[in-house]
Amino acid sequence: MSVGGALVFYSAFDAPGEWTAALKAAMPGLDVRVARVPDGAVEGDPAQVETALVWKPPHGFFSAFPNLSLVINLGAGVDALVARDDLPDVPVTRLSDPHMAQMMASFVLFAVLRHARDIPAFEKAQRERRWHYLHPRVAGEIRVGVLGLGELGAAAALEIARHGFDVRGWSRSPKTLPGIACASGIKALPGFLAAADILVVMLPLTPQTRGLLDAERLALLPEGAAFINVARGPVVDEAALIGALRAGRIGAATLDVFEVEPLPAESPLWGMENVLVTPHLASVAIPASAAAQIAENIRRVKAGEAVLNRVDPGRGY
Ligand code: NDP
Repeated sequence: MSVGGALVFYSAFDAPGEWTAALKAAMPGLDVRVARVPDGAVEGDPAQVETALVWKPPHGFFSAFPNLSLVINLGAGVDALVARDDLPDVPVTRLSDPHMAQMMASFVLFAVLRHARDIPAFEKAQRERRWHYLHPRVAGEIRVGVLGLGELGAAAALEIARHGFDVRGWSRSPKTLPGIACASGIKALPGFLAAADILVVMLPLTPQTRGLLDAERLALLPEGAAFINVARGPVVDEAALIGALRAGRIGAATLDVFEVEPLPAESPLWGMENVLVTPHLASVAIPASAAAQIAENIRRVKAGEAVLNRVDPGRGY
């Protein structure tokens, strides 16, 4: 494809070399400029930059590029991007990559199986050199509630259902997914939580979802439920979650995301036997598979066509 303007890349977490190679393979001749971390300085004429592929660039980053026509969030979660007050008035897109969905679905499956098969109890027993038989539960008798049925949430729900669990899903607007009992809207939430032996949080962080799972709602979960959060920490009241885990009201948790990241050394979560902490890596953007959709959206902008995977900054996702 023919490419015109340059693309600027900013991320402190992703390898610029890999992304540059993947982008150039998808768009031969593309001028990729890697911005310096952390100040965002870029070499060359900024007026040539038309596309920004970014993960959490510094404040004021975009104003350096007067001819930007597309901002691509280097990931699925756009909360940090849409909350900025310096976002240019151009289409904003997120990555929507089947490999990313697959990576997320496999992580969620791992976490669900870990709780469903009582693995933490066996890990504890092993440390104590204790033969601890717990009769396995049948998957179909375990109710798994998935909050959020988007690109990643739906893929995860379907993957869990494929393993025979009784999967229910909850979203803002009504959804139909094969084999999943879908509910929607805030009124359905209390009943949904009360029927989740394992709860999986896959909601984007928006003004509506921030603090959604507060002490009162967490108390609706069945006694001893397992809690999995792979979305964003602030969707949950972390102090209330810690209290419920300490009391055993919530039996166990797998947490990939936290109110503050990196999780501070003094957080009680590190030392809790019924909690698995992972450092926000349930799924990541994969350059080779993401490059094709980036190329397609650059083509669409040039052709004056609607872009794919557009984010609605007003809605927050
Ligand atoms: P999407 O934006 O595709 O979907 C969001 C889902 O949440 C939709 O089903 C939406 O409902 C629902 N939702 C949004 N707001 C509400 C609300 N107020 N009430 C009820 N439901 C709501 O997200 P993805 O599935 O792609 O990703 C989910 C999140 O996972 C991302 O936002 C990101 O924060 C996180 N993530 C975490 C990663 C990790 O490594 N831990 C990696 C990648 C993403 P509706 O369908 O009606 O619009």
